Parts: sequence; structure tokens; C-alpha cells
Amino acid sequence: MKKLLLANWKMELTESSTLDLVFQLKKSMKKISKVEVAIAPSFIYLKEIKNLLGRSKIQLSSQNVAPADKGKYTGEVSAAMLKELGCKYAIVGHSERRIKLNETDELVNRKINQCLEAELTPVLCVGETFEQKQQGQTDSVLVKQLQVALDKVSNLPESEIVIAYEPIWAVGTGQFLKAEELFAFQRTIKRTVSSLYTEKFYDEKVRFLYGGSINSIIAKDYWVCDYIDGILVGGASLDPMEFYNIALEAE
Ligand code: PEP
Repeated sequence: MKKLLLANWKMELTESSTLDLVFQLKKSMKKISKVEVAIAPSFIYLKEIKNLLGRSKIQLSSQNVAPADKGKYTGEVSAAMLKELGCKYAIVGHSERRIKLNETDELVNRKINQCLEAELTPVLCVGETFEQKQQGQTDSVLVKQLQVALDKVSNLPESEIVIAYEPIWAVGTGQFLKAEELFAFQRTIKRTVSSLYTEKFYDEKVRFLYGGSINSIIAKDYWVCDYIDGILVGGASLDPMEFYNIALEAE
């Protein structure tokens, strides 16, 4: 499996700036072959972007997905709808949704089930707050988030998933964990996932991403680490040159 570079554009861009960014990335990312590049724009631009991307290798992700397959869920977008629009990935459990919209691990579990039913690869975000880090609770927070989010998922261990470790204190703050500091947390995640399913499942089907204030100056440190399978980028992905340079560091 190739390493993954995923851009999360959040609710930052209007239509014209979204399409402008896609246009620039479509050109620049032709030179990138070592990593898989994916973008997560707002739902409402997915179809237009899919058309604009044409034969580009850039993959599409949603930033969220509904916890149910269909029915009376006003305002929600289902995994099947996203699949039909051409998405390969769906971000689930992003810390901004957990904090600002009270998303729980149980809800995240339902969303992961929906993704896998529709053959979308979930990008499960986990991570601790600053207070939890200060109190030495990072490991226990990660274990609980994973145990609930990945509890009895119907299409596991057959399907691929992505787990993005995003310390909440590092998202959008300019603070980050160094690549070498991630080893211990990757071990915790691998151990937990292996105990829920199997170590073979982790080794063959799970990609471990880091996200939190990554930029092109530090990106190489993460690309060269064999236990890090990719990077999730927020702020720096809004600048086409900066995002391209993050990808270029992997070449
Ligand atoms: C994110 O929102 O997932 C993220 C990693 O943001 P940033 O790169 O801005 O910290």
C-alpha cells in the first residue's frame, strides 16, 4: 500500500477558491508518484471536482458521513451517495466534530460501519486533548477511542481502514509531535487494533497517519519513518504550493 497524503479543507473555501485549488493540484500532482494524494473538500463541491479531476490520480474523500444508510436523516449524506460521487475515503471522528458537534465514539462506530458497507475507506481520527496529554492519559484515550469506534465492525478485518492520530492540541495550532515521538503512539494503536482483530489485519490493511500542524519543512521526517503510513494535512493544504511541497518531500 502506498503512503497517503490527505488534505482536509474543512469549511474554509468557497466554490471558486476550491476549484482554483483543484485546478492547480491537478497540474502539480502529476509529478508525484511515491504517495497517494487525496483531497477532502466540502460535500457540495464533490461532483464538480470529480469532473474537473478527470483522469487525475488525485482521490476524493468526504469530511464526514451519515451514521445510517438511508431514511429520515435531514441534512446528512450517506456513504452510498459519497461512493456514487466517486469518493474513495471518508474522514470520521475528526476532533472538530467530536468537540464542536459532540460526536461520540459510538456514533463514529456507526459511521465506520456505514463506510465499509458502501466500500468507502474510513479515515478514523483519534487523539487526546492537551489536558489529557498533561495528565499522561494519551494511551488510555487512544485505546478507548479505538475500542469503541472499531467494536464489531461488520466488514473487518477484510477491508482496509486508515487511522489518523491527530493530537487535538496539535490540530491547527502550529504545535506538532515529532516523527520519532509518534512511535510509542503507533505501538499503542497497533496493539489495540491487533487485539480487536489480528496483527495481520493491522500489518496488511491499516494505514497509520499523523495529522497536526504539518508543513513542508518538517514533512520529510514523517515520510521517511517506516511506521508512519501517511499524513493528514489541514491548514497547509489550502496553499497549493505548500501542499505540493509536502508531497514532493516524499519523492
Ligand atoms: C486536520 O484538520 O486534520 C489537521 C491536521 O489540521 P492542521 O494540519 O491545520 O493541524
